[in-house]
Amino acid sequence: MKFGGTSVADLARIRSAARKVEAEVARGHDVIVAVSAMAGKTNELVGWVDSISTLYDAREYDAVVSSGENVTAGLMALTLQEMGIPARSWQGWQVPLRTTSAHGAARIEEIGRANIDAKFAEGMKVAVVAGFQGISPEGRITTLGRGGSDTTAVAFAAAFGAIRCDIYTDVDGVYTTDPRISRKARRLERIAFEEMLELASLGAKVLQTRSVELAMRYNVPLRVLSSFDDSDAQSGTIVCAEEDIMESKVVAGVAHSRDEAKLTLTAVQDRPGIAAAIFGPLSEAGVNVDMIVQNISEHGRTDMTFSCPTDQLARAERAMRAARDAGGIAFEDVLADTEVAKVSVVGIGMRSHAGVASRMFKALADEGINIKVITTSEIKISVLIDRKYMELAVQALHDAFELHKAG
Ligand code: ADP
Ligand code: ASP
Ligand code: MG
Repeated sequence: MKFGGTSVADLARIRSAARKVEAEVARGHDVIVAVSAMAGKTNELVGWVDSISTLYDAREYDAVVSSGENVTAGLMALTLQEMGIPARSWQGWQVPLRTTSAHGAARIEEIGRANIDAKFAEGMKVAVVAGFQGISPEGRITTLGRGGSDTTAVAFAAAFGAIRCDIYTDVDGVYTTDPRISRKARRLERIAFEEMLELASLGAKVLQTRSVELAMRYNVPLRVLSSFDDSDAQSGTIVCAEEDIMESKVVAGVAHSRDEAKLTLTAVQDRPGIAAAIFGPLSEAGVNVDMIVQNISEHGRTDMTFSCPTDQLARAERAMRAARDAGGIAFEDVLADTEVAKVSVVGIGMRSHAGVASRMFKALADEGINIKVITTSEIKISVLIDRKYMELAVQALHDAFELHKAG
């Protein structure tokens, strides 16, 4: 069972989460509970680090921002004990949950079961683990990237062969789009791993992308449900294999991401190897390039546009100017646009249906929304647009694909 930030926002919320844990224990289960930091805590910690230094030492960033989860893990264990349930808290290093040393975005390598298994054998009923954190091969605390407690939960479920992994949050499931953006958003009974993976990676933050990857790889039965609903009967959304889904619409959902920036290199000298000369230095600078377009070349010169996360824009610009200064590429100017957003439609039905792109583009055109960049894959189409039209675009696409209606 995983409880996100709003689900452990204060002592009363922790108590109500603990009651859900108690109900599972009463059904005869041993439970591993993964907790997030109290709502807003991680942002506050990140803010403190940022105000000391924008070029901070990532090891100390992790030492600071992982601390929110330590507090809630201890408080949850205490709350359960007060209810008469044998519970113990575990920080990542105590488990141990071993990760790579990529501070701020570490990947889980291994979860040692022995310590927790020994406690279960002694009669402990609930292990409360601090989400989002682990320990590097060097013995330092690491964090798993924002939203990483989801991944902690799924990884524990896989490591311990759990019956189920329940992700408790502030919405009662996965919706056709972010319910905060569209009131017409509809809860899905089921969603396929592949679709959830795309939605998450395209901005639907209800689950961290990596958690869906892990659930898919280890076949962890995954469910998203509300910690604010006290009924025992709520079904939430089941994230499962494609074969287990009856209903199938061509488009399952619409995702959006504000965290996008666009860079254009103008009048790039067009020659074989130019893309490698641009994207090589970007990758070395740690820039995650997402969408790419290259215009038709005229007189041996072309424009190259790509997008990346907003906080990597400065790094990308610097890398491009440095590559030009070093003689690796020739271009006229680098133009940055930070007022963009990405809106995507996702659905496994796209594999076998034509016409999704034209329907999407028409819906945006009808609203007078200009598309700046397009990318597609087998099961998704993404467009980059002016950020001020993001919500309008989400709503227009939700309507165009009739997502408010059950399939
Ligand atoms: P937690 O703190 O529990 O981890 P998050 O804030 O990380 O919760 O994720 C839940 C939020 O994800 C919801 O409040 C909702 O606004 C947002 N969200 C975005 N897209 C979707 C979607 N398709 N379905 C449900 N929630 C979504
Ligand atoms: N507290 C961390 C964050 O806010 C991890 C999580 O909640 O999943 O990103
Ligand atoms: Mg989250």
